[in-house]
Amino acid sequence: MIVRARPQSRGCGGVEIFVLPRRFATAHSRLVAKERATEAESHLGWFVDADSVEAVWRCCLQYFGMRPDGGGYNPVENSAEDGRTVLYFQHDDGASVAAHARRMELTADGHHAAVLAAHQSATVEVPDQHTALLSMLAGHWAARALHVAAEIGLADVLDREPLHAADVAERTGCDPVAVGRLLRFLDRKGVVRQLGDATYANTELGELLREANPFSDLVRLYGSDFYEAWEEFGATVRTGGTAFRHRHGAEHFDYFAQDEASARAFDRAMQAVTELVADELAKGYPFPHGVTVVDVGGGNGTLMRAVLRDHPSVSAVVFDRDHVSAHAAGEREPDSRFHVVSGDFFTEVPPEGDVYVLSRVLHDWSDEDCERILARCRAACRAGAKLLVLERFLPETGAPRRDGELGALWDLQMLAITGGRERECSEYEKLLHGAGFRVDDVRPLPTEMNLLIATAC
Ligand code: SAM
Repeated sequence: MIVRARPQSRGCGGVEIFVLPRRFATAHSRLVAKERATEAESHLGWFVDADSVEAVWRCCLQYFGMRPDGGGYNPVENSAEDGRTVLYFQHDDGASVAAHARRMELTADGHHAAVLAAHQSATVEVPDQHTALLSMLAGHWAARALHVAAEIGLADVLDREPLHAADVAERTGCDPVAVGRLLRFLDRKGVVRQLGDATYANTELGELLREANPFSDLVRLYGSDFYEAWEEFGATVRTGGTAFRHRHGAEHFDYFAQDEASARAFDRAMQAVTELVADELAKGYPFPHGVTVVDVGGGNGTLMRAVLRDHPSVSAVVFDRDHVSAHAAGEREPDSRFHVVSGDFFTEVPPEGDVYVLSRVLHDWSDEDCERILARCRAACRAGAKLLVLERFLPETGAPRRDGELGALWDLQMLAITGGRERECSEYEKLLHGAGFRVDDVRPLPTEMNLLIATAC
């Protein structure tokens, strides 16, 4: 029997007490003995709001170093709130830690399929080498399944109401058997979930594929221009040149300058990821009163809009190539503090900013090109001006491998698509020092991004 006590105020968690009836303990003495031996019965339970379960789960993994230890979804428990999801963790922090601190249980109302799938996949035994190889080889099938789901508008159809596979097929004009099999796979991946009546609904992850979400542009772009380019990855490895050029006849940014539809999809794809860090930067970095921020290679201005929203005295300049900046200006309400300048950061960067931003720009380029861009930034600003660099880091050599880590994977994407590279934190520090900047601080941001805060010397 489980007794839960929850305080009235939202988000405060509560206390959970397990009561083991004497009769049960006797009848299942082996199970009870095992639970006691592993101290599984002594644990800390944390009941979190449904909308914060993913963030808390990430904290447990990334910041508290906890190990996933199974979990599940019970549709019957608390059925008025669509059941309950439970995630178990272990935390081996040395023998001195009390038993209840070594095991933790995170509980939330509702079915959090994507988090649960990620949690459980981090729990499963390491597969044998054959399974591991087959699974890697099939990686592009999974990506293709996602691309096609986005192309046929699956998430928008499921957004209106949960549907059987046959109804999804009818509304998307597809084959019912094929759609049924696609849905089964996506259910295994936590993109959709099958309900008790065999209908399918979007999960939080699946919602990202809705057309209104810029992530759907990212999925489509990865499934079209980038996917085609990857067919030429062999040429990249043999020659060192980009697969993108081999496939499309021009380098990535020049190609987009000629192709309006792909360029807009790229801007929105960048926006999808930028939105995940924009809030944190806008709220977390103390932009001084009245400063001008210059976002170099600022895309459609997503980051600067967030900064202006939270800092009413700040002005922003979004600087990018003209085919991009034209759209940065036109996409939202006019704002007298929001300026757009077109140009080429290899030639000149707008002068007299107080804070310069390079968000996911340096990773597009070789070290030599980064040195040129940074030199232009340094030439544009006075000593004491700030430079904020947002990038994903490669894991340091010898760092433990983590499931789902993105750094080394994105390094290949940069090699194949832009000719750039991901870097370790120390490599960015070296580039910045070489260009006349002192790195003052490095802070983590969501989705494995980081913020390097530097000052022009
Ligand atoms: N900073 C934005 C963000 O974080 O969402 C966009 C990042 S995107 C990976 C790189 C940006 O650099 C694109 O918007 C691209 O148009 C811009 N860019 C590429 N070459 C450029 C150049 N020579 N001069 C100015 N901007 C350039």
